[in-house]
Amino acid sequence: MKFRNFPMVPRVIFGRGCFNQLAEILAPKRKSQDAPFIFIVDEVFANKKSLIDRIPLSHNDKIIFVSAKDEPKTKEVDRYRDELVEEFVETPSGIIGIGGGTMLDYAKAIALMLTNPGSSADYQGWDLIKNPAVYHVGIPTISGTGAEVSRTTVLTGPVKKLGMNSDYTPFDQVVLDPELTDGVPDNQWFYTGMDCYIHCIESLTGHFLNTFSKSYGEKSLELCRNVFLKKDIRDEESQNELMMASWHGGMSIAYSQVGIAHALSYGLSYLLGTKHGIGNCIVFDQLGEYYPEGVKEFKEMVKKHNIDIPKGLTKDLTDKEFNIMIDVALSLEPLWENALGKGWKEIMTRKKIREMYELM
Ligand code: NAD
Ligand code: ZN
Repeated sequence: MKFRNFPMVPRVIFGRGCFNQLAEILAPKRKSQDAPFIFIVDEVFANKKSLIDRIPLSHNDKIIFVSAKDEPKTKEVDRYRDELVEEFVETPSGIIGIGGGTMLDYAKAIALMLTNPGSSADYQGWDLIKNPAVYHVGIPTISGTGAEVSRTTVLTGPVKKLGMNSDYTPFDQVVLDPELTDGVPDNQWFYTGMDCYIHCIESLTGHFLNTFSKSYGEKSLELCRNVFLKKDIRDEESQNELMMASWHGGMSIAYSQVGIAHALSYGLSYLLGTKHGIGNCIVFDQLGEYYPEGVKEFKEMVKKHNIDIPKGLTKDLTDKEFNIMIDVALSLEPLWENALGKGWKEIMTRKKIREMYELM
C-alpha cells in the first residue's frame, strides 16, 4: 500500500474581522515595489465599499473584478495570466482570491499559470504541474466548497471539466473571516452549504474512509446539522460554524474521495453549465437508493429552509446529450469506486445513470 503524503495550507487566520489584518499578512511577502499583489475579487462586491475599501492596495497593486456567473474556464485563466504578464514588468508578488469557490479556484489557477508555461488545459489532471506557484491567498466569502483547503482548482477546459490537482495548488495562506459571508443570498447559502454536507455524506459512507477522513467528516457533519437542522435562522454562530464545516469537509475528502452526487453533478455542469452547489442538490435529491439516510436528512433541510430544488433540467435533452453527461460522469472512476467499491462497473450501468439523469 502506498500512502499519499499531501500538503496542507501552512497558514490560516480565523475570526470575525480578521480580514483587517490582511495588510500585515501581505507586507512581508512583497518581492519588490514593481511586483504587485493582484486581488481577484467577485464582482458582486464591486460596489460594496465596506469590503473594497479594506483591501490594502499600495504601489502597483491591482483589483480585478471577476464574475462568478460561470465556473472557471481554462481559457479565462490563460487570458488573465497573459494580461498580467503583459501589464507588469515583474511577476506578481501574490494572487489573492476573495469570493466563493469560483474566485478561490481562479486565484489558485492564475498563481500556478504564472510560473508554468503553456495553457492551463495542459495541466488538468493529477500532478502535471512542474513549478511552484506564486504566493497565493484564499479568502472565502461563502462557505461550503472546501476549495480553501483543497489540492485542486476545478476548471472547465476544451475537452473536460477537471482540476489541476497538485502539491503546488493549495493556498499559502487562508483568511477565514465569517463576517464576509454576511450578504450571501439565502438559496445560495443553502446550495453551497449543501456542497459541504454532501462532501461529508460521500466521504463517511465511502469505501475509502479512514480514521483521518472520518474524524474531520464527523465534525463537519455535526456543524452542518447545527446550521441547517437545529436552526432556521442564520446568525453569527451559524456563519462561524459553516465556515469551519467547510474547512473540515474539505479535509475529510482530501484523504478519502467524494462519490455519486459529485460524479453526476460534474456531468450536468459540463453539458448545461449547472453550478456546483445547486447541481449537487439537484442530483443528491435523487440518490435515496445510494445514500438513504443522507438524502432523507437533506430533504428535511430543504423543507425546513423552504428551498427550491430546480426540476426538469434534462427533459428536452437528446440521446447524444445524455451520452455526453454519462461519459463525463463515468470518467470519474475513483468517485464511483469510493461509492460502490471495486466492482462498481457491474453495478453502475449507462442505463442506470441515464434513468437517474432523466429524473433531474
Ligand atoms: P460561487 O463562488 O460560485 O458563488 C456563488 C454565488 O454567491 C455567486 O453569485 C457569488 O457572486 C455569490 N456570493 C459569494 N459570496 C457572496 C457574499 N458574501 N455576498 C453576496 N453574494 C456572494 O460559489 P461556491 O459555491 O462557493 O463555488 C462554486 C465553485 O467552486 C465552482 O466553480 C466549483 O467547481 C468550485 N469548487 C471547487 C472546489 C475545489 O476544491 N477547488 C471544491 C468544490 C467546488
Ligand atoms: Zn463539492
